[in-house]
Amino acid sequence: MSKQYEKETICVQAGWQPKNGEPRVLPIYQSTTFKYETSEQMGRLFDLEEAGYFYTRLQNPTNDYVAAKICELEGGVAAMLTSSGQAANYYAVFNICEAGSHVVLSSTVYGGTFNLLTCTMKKMGIECTVVDPDADEETLSGAFRENTRCVLAETIANPALVVLDIEKFARLAHSHHVPLIVDNTFATPINCNPFAWGADIITHSTTKYMDGHAMSVGGCIVDSGNFDWTAYPEKFPGLCTPDESYHGITYTEKFGKAAYITKATSQLMRDLGSIQAPQNAFLLNVGLETLPLRMERHCYNAQKVAEYLEAHEKVAWVNYPGLKSSKYYDLAQKYMPDGTCGVIAFGLKGGREAAVRMMDKLKLAAIVTHVADVRTCVLHPASHTHRQMNDEQLVEAGVAPDLIRLSVGIENVRDIIADLEQALAQAD
Ligand SMILES: *Cc1c(COP(=O)(O)O)cnc(C)c1O
Repeated sequence: MSKQYEKETICVQAGWQPKNGEPRVLPIYQSTTFKYETSEQMGRLFDLEEAGYFYTRLQNPTNDYVAAKICELEGGVAAMLTSSGQAANYYAVFNICEAGSHVVLSSTVYGGTFNLLTCTMKKMGIECTVVDPDADEETLSGAFRENTRCVLAETIANPALVVLDIEKFARLAHSHHVPLIVDNTFATPINCNPFAWGADIITHSTTKYMDGHAMSVGGCIVDSGNFDWTAYPEKFPGLCTPDESYHGITYTEKFGKAAYITKATSQLMRDLGSIQAPQNAFLLNVGLETLPLRMERHCYNAQKVAEYLEAHEKVAWVNYPGLKSSKYYDLAQKYMPDGTCGVIAFGLKGGREAAVRMMDKLKLAAIVTHVADVRTCVLHPASHTHRQMNDEQLVEAGVAPDLIRLSVGIENVRDIIADLEQALAQAD
């Protein structure tokens, strides 16, 4: 579809383009495999000599139509879906790292991403240095090494709600000749397009706002096509030297701007297999159709709730980038002038115990290990998602022990506030 359309139109119309007599709605290609007329034709697919589908562990048309929509929303050149946000971040990094590589990681990333990099990928021989995203450029520069291969950070950190200075991080990454990978899950492409500010690769947990209804786990990787892997080929041998498992093709030579996604699909998907189920991709596509409407309402409601909480006598602190009192207000205005997200972090004067008591009194807002869907929900990260971290790591991750993560849904905001009101009244 032509790039001239606005995001609301892309969300509804991009991706699946039916031809004469074909279904209007994106079909679910519920098939593991695809048929060919000749054996030779299929052989060419296996050699990457021809584009085409052969086995759903690598690629499926339903997935690719949805990836194409997200790609257009982000302004990228190529994209792929993964089975989860975890798989997206894993593949995004592992596609350009191997044993002996090093990653610069923002300390405030999602707990699952923090674990992935600092524990699991460490066992694979990939080291990382954790940095404070608010540090100045000189300090951050000190984290880079000869073997650094990428930088990974989140547009709006889950759940610390730290807003990333994307331009600062892009400058740093590029001055060290490596790409900046930005996890854009919380902002969504509706509120921020990190490529416009210099990011090179974008990842998403589509499980959150994109699906939006808490129905399916999924992820996505988008490539801007802007990073020149061949400028420092010794840093990216996987992209710039022949791949023996494909008869010696070199991704950057054969696929140009699509090199990074082609490698991630044909190598990582082939060997690790974290494909998104086409059923889930179909649900994700339905979610994407209303993403702009929902984000507008999430942001409107969250702003009202944040202002209500800030004025409440039992509330010790509120962190929401849309509040003028927020340390990240200016960065949010610069990178996300139309709104940030529906997630608010706050603490009560009664501390951790009062937080747990208040949450137990909520009637409308459910306690769930989820965030960023249509239903208002709450979580106490120190007891739930971040439970594996010690107090020092919690503070580093921007997760105070008393932090309540409130994911404001799209219900009527008066009902959400009334629910908080009655729960707060009982939280002593
Ligand atoms: C949830 C989340 C992830 C992990 O995604 P899953 O789909 O749960 O695997 C990664 N990054 C961010 C910012 C998230 O919020």
